[in-house]
Amino acid sequence: MISQDALFELFLKQSIKDYNGVIDSFLKDPSSIFADKNEQTGLFFDALTRKLANWKKSKECIYRNCKEKSIKKSHTIAKSAFLSVIAEKGHLYTPALNYKTYGTEIKKIGVNDASTFPGFCQDHEKLFFAFEQSKRIAGDSDAFRQIYRTICREIVIKEFRLNTILHLRDSYKKFRDGKLFIEIKKLPIMKLIERNSKISNFEYEGSDALLNSFDTEIKNLKRDIRKFRGIYFKRIHDELELKSKKQFFCGMNITVKGQVPVALAGRGNFVAAMDINSEPKTIELITIVLPSENETTVIIFSSVENEEYIKGYVERFLRQDFGIINMIESWMMYGSDHWFIKPSIWEKITAENQKVIVSDIMDPSKRISSFYPKTIFNDFKRDRLLALIKLKSNEEFEKMIIVENGKFTDAEVP
Ligand SMILES: [Zn+2]
Repeated sequence: MISQDALFELFLKQSIKDYNGVIDSFLKDPSSIFADKNEQTGLFFDALTRKLANWKKSKECIYRNCKEKSIKKSHTIAKSAFLSVIAEKGHLYTPALNYKTYGTEIKKIGVNDASTFPGFCQDHEKLFFAFEQSKRIAGDSDAFRQIYRTICREIVIKEFRLNTILHLRDSYKKFRDGKLFIEIKKLPIMKLIERNSKISNFEYEGSDALLNSFDTEIKNLKRDIRKFRGIYFKRIHDELELKSKKQFFCGMNITVKGQVPVALAGRGNFVAAMDINSEPKTIELITIVLPSENETTVIIFSSVENEEYIKGYVERFLRQDFGIINMIESWMMYGSDHWFIKPSIWEKITAENQKVIVSDIMDPSKRISSFYPKTIFNDFKRDRLLALIKLKSNEEFEKMIIVENGKFTDAEVP
């Protein structure tokens, strides 16, 4: 004979077991809540498209204390000055996220839409008029403004990404809890509970692998935003407004002869130690490449405490004949995805090599101190390589020729 209380206790125990069974089987394979890949893609695709539409809307101007509305399409890299000179038939190529596969792809983009972000109001757009009109970076003041613009874009895009990820996380959690609720509703105890009161929704407080990956990304973005707003933003405004000496920052502004057919404005980092006894440090820098008709401006920028590291970093590349091109290729591959390349340069790379390059972009194990083992600027390098061969001949040079010849990615025999 079993008492009513004991029976009830057994039922409760079994119910807890049933509930844990639903949760455990989900946690073992979180993707099991999606009926198929399409349902998963659909959920994120919808959430993403809804958010991405907001990117084009104007926001409050990012300039300190400015309350005006931003213009919708502020170019981080000036269109008429630097993008148009490398565009062909009004287009450029740029790395972009494929929203169906979540992988990177190299996509064609119209020059009017390239490098735009809702950043500044009409009035603060004027900060950049001087070099937009002269179509070149004439000195440190122009360079500083371009750096400012690049940092502002980093902040705006990171805040936008943060909002998007928060929205995705939220959509996913609602979907997940909804699916779990369907399973839980099937449990016998729910029939009992629902006899007295209707339960309309269910929230599972625990985490899972997907939620964890959202949370890691959210943490990283928040850290980056704090860093950019905290370290750069205030100081750079102080300097813009007071025209004070740039004591907070260090950097270089290098002019390269000839047009390197890419425009880039972003950031990158590398890890370095001053000597064998000191702790390695992550050095963040702003990287910019601005092509003109006959020259290319290359800008590197960081906080002043990184000055020695930056010098060491640049010297390591510039020691070589192709150092600056190799450095730019490293930035494109392992630093920023905010770059725009002349279409014919990209199209000349063989399909097979294009695939390799795309899959190497943003390899998380690499920093911008790594040399990329292939080349993107085949003709630019080949022309200079041929010119150099006529000029130089020594053992070190021969070695360099062998290395560089092995890096071409187009179909031409070097
Ligand atoms: Zn403004």
